[in-house]
Amino acid sequence: MKDSMIRVRFAPSPTGPLHIGGVRTALYNYLFARKYGGKFILRIEDTDQNRQVATAEEYIMESLDWCGILFDEDPRKGGPYGPYRQSERKEIYGHYALQLVRNKFAYYAFDTEEELEQMRQRLKISDPAFAQYGPATRLEMKNSLTLTENEVQQRLKDGEPFVIRIKIPENEEIIVNDLIRGEVVVHSHNLDDKVLFKSDGWPTYHLANIVDDHLMKITHVIRGEEWLPSAPLHVLLYRYMGWEAEMPEFAHLPLLLKPDGNGKLSKRDGDRLGFPVFPLQWTGPDTQEVSSGYRETGYLPEAFINILAFLGWNPGTEQELFSLNELIDQFSLERIGKHGSKFDPDKAKWFNHQYLKLKTDEELAGLLSPTIENRGLKFNFNYIVTVCALIRDRVYLIPDLWNNSWFFFIPPSAYSQQVKQKIWKPETPGLVKAFLEEAGKLVEWNKDNLHAMLEVFLSGHNAKMGQLMNPLRLLVVGDNQGPGMTDIAGILGKEETLRRIRVGLERI
Ligand code: GLU
Repeated sequence: MKDSMIRVRFAPSPTGPLHIGGVRTALYNYLFARKYGGKFILRIEDTDQNRQVATAEEYIMESLDWCGILFDEDPRKGGPYGPYRQSERKEIYGHYALQLVRNKFAYYAFDTEEELEQMRQRLKISDPAFAQYGPATRLEMKNSLTLTENEVQQRLKDGEPFVIRIKIPENEEIIVNDLIRGEVVVHSHNLDDKVLFKSDGWPTYHLANIVDDHLMKITHVIRGEEWLPSAPLHVLLYRYMGWEAEMPEFAHLPLLLKPDGNGKLSKRDGDRLGFPVFPLQWTGPDTQEVSSGYRETGYLPEAFINILAFLGWNPGTEQELFSLNELIDQFSLERIGKHGSKFDPDKAKWFNHQYLKLKTDEELAGLLSPTIENRGLKFNFNYIVTVCALIRDRVYLIPDLWNNSWFFFIPPSAYSQQVKQKIWKPETPGLVKAFLEEAGKLVEWNKDNLHAMLEVFLSGHNAKMGQLMNPLRLLVVGDNQGPGMTDIAGILGKEETLRRIRVGLERI
């Protein structure tokens, strides 16, 4: 196959927010397309009208935009094989469903909900595995295999509700050649006569997916492992449509597992363990329940991409940090594992830390500035840069910039009583007052001069560094945290430092 012919797609159903597993699927498709100079398509699979969530499509696009995962053809920009929203392609599918019926690969079924339920109940008693519509049961049901041609036509003419079901072969081994898993063989008695088309004119996922992959000339279907059970049905559909020769190749990506490896990573794990499972924050349209997102939690998109790339793929070397271009260069389906990939929240933070470390002080200041401005505070950009240079090693997520530096921008509003209990001694106020007086005389206020002055001062008062520095920190920062006290005082400046100490002495 010529590289330039490669066409892959990401085909989400807009039923809710995109899980990180979905973003990973999109990323791998994107990397594969870019690597081989192919095309990457976004197709919105919105045929199941009952499950659509109005804001989900926009959310999917915004998420992928944030990640820098760009499409060549999509519902927004269009393309030669559009439309790219299945709801706008509704008219296309019926023709193919009827073709299957005509060729006896599918049939009309008129069973009511009650009749289906009765069948399930009946079969559950004998063998639950066969409690489905398929080779073993379809001849007991109400469909065009059991009714006469005239009866079928009459029912259709009367507008009786129907579905079109695929006729699964009775005794056949179906082979799915998967680029990651190799040959997957499934016996047809494990499959059921899935509904392909409904009387309301809507196709189901299986039919629409196959028809569109064919019409959009998709060469590789790269998707999550949860779709592997559908793959034999899809293989049959390609065959029954007469498209077997152009059937895309399949690659089913390993599952994303919980941090402990026990089962699929779910939204609940994220809530329980305190990490997002969605790229962007999501507000449930009905419940208004807010789920956190990587963007809002303070991840950089380049770090997020790197984290996802490693959930299932590895380069086979020690290198861990990859730009998008490096990923494109190194990516290959051969290096995707078969086994589920455990999500490690600490490692995710580590990646973000590495990417924040690559930023210059100015870039970090650019990330911190909006928080400062949003609080109605005004500071010189160079001041913010100096602060960032001092605290940069402590920053794992973007909000850590503020959490580690707020006291450079606002004075403490309270003083930790817990710390006070530990460090505040009867002689402390006297020592601090003496320091205030001495420090007031310092002409050139900077870290080094302060340090030199302190040494003289402390030996003059027969005191140790901690005896003065811990109380000073409590008065200036309100707690026992932050960088070196002389660093803080140096940046805050003489006036602000001494003012805070004075105010603190009165309020503590
Ligand atoms: N619409 C399916 C989904 O929501 C697409 C599966 C596929 O890629 O075939 O994931």
